[in-house]
Amino acid sequence: MLILGGTGEAVALAEALAGRADVTYSLAGRTDAPRLPPGVAVRSGGFGGAAALAGWIEAGRIDAVIDATHPFADIIAGNAEAACRRAGTLRLKLLRPGWEARTGDIWHAAGSVADAARLIPETGGNVFLAVGRQQLAAFAGAAAGSGRQFLIRTVDLLTAAPFAGAVCVTGRGPFSVQEEAALLREHAIGCVVSRNAGGPSSYAKIAAARSLSVPVIMIDRPPPPPGDCAADVEGALDWLRQRLG
Ligand code: NAP
Repeated sequence: MLILGGTGEAVALAEALAGRADVTYSLAGRTDAPRLPPGVAVRSGGFGGAAALAGWIEAGRIDAVIDATHPFADIIAGNAEAACRRAGTLRLKLLRPGWEARTGDIWHAAGSVADAARLIPETGGNVFLAVGRQQLAAFAGAAAGSGRQFLIRTVDLLTAAPFAGAVCVTGRGPFSVQEEAALLREHAIGCVVSRNAGGPSSYAKIAAARSLSVPVIMIDRPPPPPGDCAADVEGALDWLRQRLG
């Protein structure tokens, strides 16, 4: 099996399968010290597109691909779908459900990262940009001349601030609600920008924003690829049992 990883569920699935199946766990290779599942083969780095991934699947005689990548990692999700269709290999998307707004949440829905950047002037105070590194540049315009700080937290220290007004800190989650509330207070955050990642591991900032009545600009997920989908590791294991025995 090939598990496309980079998430907590991907690690948990690989751990559940270790010793029971021949598993390769694949990472894009973006972080310096990623969490790795013990007892399975690990590979790192892009495959070189959908056709190359199909070739890798065929050469490795892979029986099933579990795409357990992040809900916003839509390029690899599309590539996995196309590659498995081409190679005639079973594929499952492991996709945790998105978060739903609760009483006390002040959410502004954004259809895209660009949409989120456009909504920022409707809020006040400093901004906590809880988005991926590749999306940071989209906020340079909103920061320019605003006089507001844009807090960015990454696992590995950014070598340079992505734009003027950015304040970079490091941290590896999961964080508690108390820790996130302390961060929001310390940086006088008046607006959190978050992608609707779903799952418990990055939810604390949303709960902290609710507790402090800080608005959240919540970016919708890209649509998942067509085909089979499981919401959690148990669902993925059930699917594997049914499909592969
Ligand atoms: P992406 O935009 O969908 O993919 C960009 C390229 O990275 C893909 O075309 C592929 O390169 C390579 N790639 C992505 N995931 C890979 C994997 N698991 N194994 C091998 N190659 C992979 O992905 P992304 O949003 O940059 O995310 C990269 C990784 O970080 C993913 O594994 C994802 O699960 C993890 N992650 C992402 C986020 C997020 O916010 N997007 C958050 C937490 C973790 P080739 O075309 O060359 O094959």
